[in-house]
Amino acid sequence: MTTFRRNWETKCTSCGYVSDAVTSPFSGGHEPSPGDLSICIACGHLTAFAADLTLRELTEVERRQAEADDRITQCLLARGLVMGKAK
Ligand SMILES: [Zn+2]
Repeated sequence: MTTFRRNWETKCTSCGYVSDAVTSPFSGGHEPSPGDLSICIACGHLTAFAADLTLRELTEVERRQAEADDRITQCLLARGLVMGKAK
């Protein structure tokens, strides 16, 4: 079961989209913590949660790890399908 939480505002560092909720596609009731990845629902940009739980750009190491992670690829594809275009 996924976790969904409202009233958690984040702003995409790429397109500026402001989201008022977060969700995790993984089970276990996980809420965002520093270093967790985030995918912008509007544009598909990958970021990470900073220590203050705002979004920050990925480091080069994080970006390479994300690109090699099939779960991230699946999430990006799902976002693309929901939004009507694959990224
Ligand atoms: Zn965005």
